[in-house]
Amino acid sequence: MKKYILNFEVTGCMNQCKHCYCYDLKNKRKLIDSDKAIKLAQEFREKTNSDVSVYLLQEQTYHPDFLEIVKSLLENNFMNKGSNNLLVTNGFGLVHEKNNLNRLKEFYSTVKVTLFGTKDVHDSFVNRDGHFDEIMMLTKALKELNVKIIWQIMFLRNNGKDISELINIAKNLEVDHYFVTSEFHYSGHLLSNPNIIPLENDFEEIDFKVYELEENRIFPEYKALEFLNGTEDSQIEKVTLDNLYIDSNFDVYPLSNIEPESKIGNLEDDMNTIVNMLNDNQLLPDKLRERLALNYKDLIESYLDNQSKEMYTAQSLFEKLAYIKQKEIN
Ligand code: SF4
Repeated sequence: MKKYILNFEVTGCMNQCKHCYCYDLKNKRKLIDSDKAIKLAQEFREKTNSDVSVYLLQEQTYHPDFLEIVKSLLENNFMNKGSNNLLVTNGFGLVHEKNNLNRLKEFYSTVKVTLFGTKDVHDSFVNRDGHFDEIMMLTKALKELNVKIIWQIMFLRNNGKDISELINIAKNLEVDHYFVTSEFHYSGHLLSNPNIIPLENDFEEIDFKVYELEENRIFPEYKALEFLNGTEDSQIEKVTLDNLYIDSNFDVYPLSNIEPESKIGNLEDDMNTIVNMLNDNQLLPDKLRERLALNYKDLIESYLDNQSKEMYTAQSLFEKLAYIKQKEIN
């Protein structure tokens, strides 16, 4: 059975992380009509005869009815029931709304937060003083409640020493699981401001493991041809047509391309048109059809910067090169 993920933007976000894919949207706090969102998701499931999961974005805990919406998603089979339910959050609505924290265990067994460094580095990256301290408070509170806590630690350009310090803090706080990653969802604002991407020499002399490095999945751009040998177009996700972003007005975009030219319709007004587009890619907006037609090898031949020591995975390098190409076309 075909699977779709519908990501509903249920509210805004108080942070302004430098890499955020929804950079232009995040500070406008508009509450979605959650009953309508669930009805539309049901209708979409029927029309596509598919298995539909619903995720809540941007900072879902910031929505005043956060746990009521989650309850309704569970009742309507848009979320898995069971012991492995994971909440991905920046923690705001758990730290500032004790009722959410106290009821959390009814719905989630594990919480994942993301850190960009120790206090000053982290708060500067998310553009909000006090967020690092909130995460520390949340970590301690979850330990007391016996809810698992995972730290995703982002390795940025020049923050190696800071990450080492952060790992010591994680050990002291007995964080259940932490891992260091340097793969960003390389889209949105980051495309025009890539100076947080680590460079090859940032990976020298670090005393911690970086997930993508361990998996041999990350390489400096100038060595891309060597690393990408054998990477087929089919291994690259060019447009996420099974993973859709729906804003608070019910406008629908592929999660990979949240921008006006990539809107595929309005879930309330144009559901049939959207379903037809998902079944026949020739009906998609020009920008998305252009992107689907891109050839990775051609992109590399035309746009690879042989001097660049920025570190990429195959997918994130595709995002960078596709962005350059599409800027040229449009
Ligand atoms: S916390 Fe999440 S939604 Fe908010 S700005 Fe950061 S990445 Fe974006």
